[in-house]
Amino acid sequence: MSDHPPEHIASVGEFLAHALELEYESAERYRELADNMSVHNNPEIAELFEYLARMSDLHAQEVEEHARGIQIPQIAPWDYKWAAGGSPEANAAEQDEELSYLMTPIQAMHLALHNELRGRDFYARVAAGSPDPEVRRLAAEMAEEETEHADLLEQRLAKMDPRRAEPVEDLDPPNMPE
Ligand code: ZN
Repeated sequence: MSDHPPEHIASVGEFLAHALELEYESAERYRELADNMSVHNNPEIAELFEYLARMSDLHAQEVEEHARGIQIPQIAPWDYKWAAGGSPEANAAEQDEELSYLMTPIQAMHLALHNELRGRDFYARVAAGSPDPEVRRLAAEMAEEETEHADLLEQRLAKMDPRRAEPVEDLDPPNMPE
């Protein structure tokens, strides 16, 4: 797989095939995480994951609109140009394993963040390295949106108390000057 790096994606059709696979997989992951958080009585984080699932749906829709009139190639699983170790399937297997254990909201948030960073890195590498300017432009747009999603998760994580493994409403107020 390491001989198929993402920056070798050279046509819009090939890019769209990868983006569709990634976004569908991502939406599915988020719905699983959201269900898991609902079961654990954490509606607030379940809602955040539902939101991110919808964002992935939207991405997939945008990709499908771009794809109208473009030949999307059929790609065998081993021919996708993910970064080494970064295929959605490998990621999914890894996450299923972790999902089978009792997961704290913080663990779920870290899985979500991993998901977004994987997407961002994929798009960023294509944006930086594809020989096709249209592919670079599309990938740069997607990378920017994934960066926003990752930032959202990081901000939320920063407000969670790792000892309680639950979200805390307010951070400690800053120390007042003497
Ligand atoms: Zn995203």
